[in-house]
Amino acid sequence: MRIGVPAEIRPGETRVATTPETVGKFIQKGGHTCVVQAGAGTAATIRDSSFEAAGAVIAPHAADVYAQSDIVLKVRAPEPEELPLLRRGSILVGLLNPHDESGIEKLAETGVTAFALEAVPRITRAQAMDVLSSQANIAGYKAVLIAANEYRRFLPLLMTAAGTVKAARVLVLGAGVAGLQAIATARRLGAVVEAFDVRPAVKEQVESLGAKFVEVPVAEHERADAETAGGYAREMSDEYKRRQATLIAERARAADIIITTALVPGRRAPLLLDEETVRAMKPGAVIVDLAVEQGGNCALTERDRVVQTEGVRIVGYSNLPALVAADASALYARNVHNFVNLLMDPAAGTVTIDRHDEIIAATLVCIDGAPTRKPETSLA
Ligand code: NAD
Repeated sequence: MRIGVPAEIRPGETRVATTPETVGKFIQKGGHTCVVQAGAGTAATIRDSSFEAAGAVIAPHAADVYAQSDIVLKVRAPEPEELPLLRRGSILVGLLNPHDESGIEKLAETGVTAFALEAVPRITRAQAMDVLSSQANIAGYKAVLIAANEYRRFLPLLMTAAGTVKAARVLVLGAGVAGLQAIATARRLGAVVEAFDVRPAVKEQVESLGAKFVEVPVAEHERADAETAGGYAREMSDEYKRRQATLIAERARAADIIITTALVPGRRAPLLLDEETVRAMKPGAVIVDLAVEQGGNCALTERDRVVQTEGVRIVGYSNLPALVAADASALYARNVHNFVNLLMDPAAGTVTIDRHDEIIAATLVCIDGAPTRKPETSLA
């Protein structure tokens, strides 16, 4: 098969969907050919010459890549100007916003067969393709480094001849993949960390990283209702949200840094820090809101900006993995390579779309000119 990788054109997107490592695997192990757009890897610190050394052909323009490819690998969903370049009958793999129904309809109209990697199910067989995990891990790490940079004090406890500096208190809201990495990173920098999540199952993981788990008192039925079979959080009751808000407001007043990562698939991110809570925080405190793309966990977050309220700095960068573009691309490209291998019939070396395969069924968003389903159903 001919595999093509155009440069990403969405503003701020620095990642690339393949690396010389995965190009080499596609060519040597898979017997495929690869065409990469000139400059596609530049922002991820990969030179065209490295792609060429791995066996790829460099094409000057995106149109050449789309025209020559049976399978197109992308990071982001195509921008409007990319849609006309997609070739009817070709395969598209990327972060395609499966919940964006009108976006998927437009994609379907181009006649491509498209797979949205956000919808890879949380099953053991799919772990090596789980782009949400690989990228969230990076976001959690970078969020702490950004917070440390914005914070005007040390994170670790320091005992100096000039006196003692207290360790920073970091509060992590949402202890999934990003949250756990944020906890681990903040701990490595010497902060005192506490974390909170609606899923009681994460308590042990939080504690094993040396952080304290903040628990909202829950009834037995709420405990069971907090998590879907797929391991994601559910939207909680209003009564639970009230209890949670009181506790978070109390912990926020004591915090120096808050990293928020709470998401509920297919919905607006839960609002966990309202304006009053932020105004009651210490001056100099920093909030990094990782949920900004889904509406934000903090009421005052502004997308891709750092804003300040009563001396509290709120960071709303929407694409933290793009700030670690080299490693983010390396991990993403491996996820994509593993996914493409799943599509291949190894004997024939061609694609077979087995719609009975759980991973393929969950990620397929359009085929034969039509969207396949309401995407939320696969994430429930
Ligand atoms: P996510 O990005 O959807 O959400 C981030 C976190 O926010 C989750 O832990 C969620 O419980 C939490 N959250 C949601 N609403 C909240 C609220 N109101 N208050 C506080 N926290 C809230 O989730 P994720 O990080 O992608 O992972 C979810 C789970 O799936 C994790 O336990 C992860 O370890 C697991 N997982 C399993 C596999 C696998 O088995 N293959 C792969 C990846 C992740």
